[in-house]
Amino acid sequence: LSTGLEEAWTKLRREDVLTRENMKEPMRDIRRALLEADVSLPVVRRFVNSVSEKAIGTGVIRGVKPDQQLVKVVHDQLVSLMGGDAVSIEFAKVPPTVILMAGLQGVGKTTACGKLALFLKKKDKSCIMLATDVYRPAAIEQLVTLGKQMEVPVFEAGNQLSPVEIARKGLSEAKKKGVDVVIVDTAGRLQVDKGMMNELKQMKQVLNPTEIFLVVDAMTGQEAAALVAAFNLEVGLTGAILTKLDGDSRGGAALSIKEVSGKPIKFIGEGESMTALEPFYPDRMASRILGMGDILSFVEKAQEVMMQEEAEEMQKKIMEAKFDFNDFLKQTRMMARMGSMGGMLKFIPGMNKVSPLQIREAEKSLKVMESMINSMTPEERADPELLTKSPSRRRRIALGSGRTQEQVSQLVSQLFQMRARMKNLATLMQGGKVPGLDN
Ligand code: GDP
Ligand code: MG
Repeated sequence: LSTGLEEAWTKLRREDVLTRENMKEPMRDIRRALLEADVSLPVVRRFVNSVSEKAIGTGVIRGVKPDQQLVKVVHDQLVSLMGGDAVSIEFAKVPPTVILMAGLQGVGKTTACGKLALFLKKKDKSCIMLATDVYRPAAIEQLVTLGKQMEVPVFEAGNQLSPVEIARKGLSEAKKKGVDVVIVDTAGRLQVDKGMMNELKQMKQVLNPTEIFLVVDAMTGQEAAALVAAFNLEVGLTGAILTKLDGDSRGGAALSIKEVSGKPIKFIGEGESMTALEPFYPDRMASRILGMGDILSFVEKAQEVMMQEEAEEMQKKIMEAKFDFNDFLKQTRMMARMGSMGGMLKFIPGMNKVSPLQIREAEKSLKVMESMINSMTPEERADPELLTKSPSRRRRIALGSGRTQEQVSQLVSQLFQMRARMKNLATLMQGGKVPGLDN
């Protein structure tokens, strides 16, 4: 995927800003590259449209060339196409958590069971695996071997019982043992058929699984997405495990699964060894598909530079004790752009040791503050003194923001305290101050 895209970017590099006109060629290349990656046409269309729209909508960022800006947009859209945030395993409120593994033959179900057991074991979860693939004796043997290798118990009954019976017995065994997670390996078929679906439905009924994963082979490209959609319709899935990504450089399957089926990829398999399983991170996959890590980090650098400039401007205001509610809002938004306060804090010397809990608390209180500032008039924002003098203004703001008058008064006095304290601190810092953190 990466080579085709790279050419498109080079052409754009010589331009000044992104326009519909100069984006045409790179967009055509993106389209072609995605089709070559075996992404289905409707998905490609939607993707290209959303990229064009977003790219036109982005303003010029100082120091960033249009090609880099477009990479950033493509990257972000790829991430959102793949579901945005990583989705991890859901655990049952009352153990054991049951994970049912479905999928066609040879896609890597049994292997994925073992990998998952090891993954969970490393997280201090006790597991048991159920061998319900009674159709092939070798399949049970395979799971038993994996279990021995990782010291994870396997429940099996040869082929004396039906898969549903094994599931039932295995589950009660797991409950007796007080195991955290039950991983159920199932039999696959060469293709989707009624027998397999019915068996899965019955197992689902017996097991009441928290997770039902469809294991799909990345080498099947866009077919993988269609499969996830089909199984989801029949059985109801909670996610997919995409295997054999080590053998597929195109990434088409990874791209389309969420978009086509509505279900997230939760894990990826990248090899035959038991350790070759990882949670699926859409942003990492996007970077990998683009294969342009350098450009990406440059765009991020440029944005950091821009933030630094804004922060310096802010600092000037702080020095002059002119920091008002508008600056406050601007700073909050700057943080929002960074994604989190944690990201922002790394620009501020001495602030990188703040704990995640403190950051979450601060972020929460910032939201409250922002709601109150939103209820202020422009004059009030620019001239906080107005609020110290007028209780009726404070009452209005409290009503408008759904906060108490006390909270509004607190915010106003905080701003003045901040002004005073910031002025003292300003000399110590280079990147501006995060308001609301140390009060
Ligand atoms: P099942 O029929 O769905 O249970 O598939 P298996 O777990 O038996 O796997 C079929 C084959 O695919 C085996 O040879 C596995 O070693 C191999 N396999 C499974 N996952 C991966 C993977 O992520 N990468 C590679 N390269 N091979 C894999
Ligand atoms: Mg198997």
